[in-house]
Amino acid sequence: MDFELSEEQRMIVETTRAFVEAELYPHEAEVERTGVLPVELIREIQAKAIAAGLYAANMPVEVGGAGLDTLSWLLYEKELGRANYALHWTCVARPSNILLAGNAEQRERYLMPCIRGETWDCLAMTEPGAGSDLRGMKASARLDGGDWVLNGTKHFISHADLAGFAIVFMASGEEETRAGRRS
Ligand SMILES: Cc1cc2nc3c(=O)[nH]c(=O)nc-3n(C[C@H](O)[C@H](O)[C@H](O)COP(=O)(O)OP(=O)(O)OC[C@H]3O[C@@H](n4cnc5c(N)ncnc54)[C@H](O)[C@@H]3O)c2cc1C
Repeated sequence: MDFELSEEQRMIVETTRAFVEAELYPHEAEVERTGVLPVELIREIQAKAIAAGLYAANMPVEVGGAGLDTLSWLLYEKELGRANYALHWTCVARPSNILLAGNAEQRERYLMPCIRGETWDCLAMTEPGAGSDLRGMKASARLDGGDWVLNGTKHFISHADLAGFAIVFMASGEEETRAGRRS
């Protein structure tokens, strides 16, 4: 069995690593020291990432991504992971894959602006009392007429301050499921 990387995979590693070293490493010390990632810097690096074909590369080709296979995607993530998390996760964003599950209108409204770098999504799962064990989630959603009423607390949500919208994981239908199972 051949475990060698393909020519294309080697190129992905080299391109991503070169980008990380040239565009992200120089800003790490300052971001770590101040705890601040200025919007102007985000926009500057983001434009370079888009030009390099590295932005939203986790997405399929039909929506403007790179259409990477699983191994190539992991290699790309591994290289980005060499840099400070805030820098690579914000400036070389990878929109949440769950956005691909939306219908055509939802994709256009939520996914496409993230791929184009116009906005960011954030994924809110973790709660003060529910990290690794997401089943301990307490935040709930209750349908009230045509609206969902959300109640609870989320924390550790990456770039929530910058995101145009949030994908929020809430418990719903408690009466029929959780409570029912307890009795
Ligand atoms: C940089 C960063 C970015 C993040 N971004 C997001 C985000 O965008 N959205 C989001 O929803 N969350 C985000 N998180 C939260 C992250 O998903 C949680 O921190 C993670 O799920 C762990 O939860 P916890 O911190 O509550 O730790 P806990 O779940 O309390 O775990 C604490 C320790 O106990 C260990 N442990 C847990 N369960 C077991 C077990 N059954 N057996 C043995 N050991 C166990 C763990 O390995 C860990 O060492 C982010 C976290 C970080 C650090």
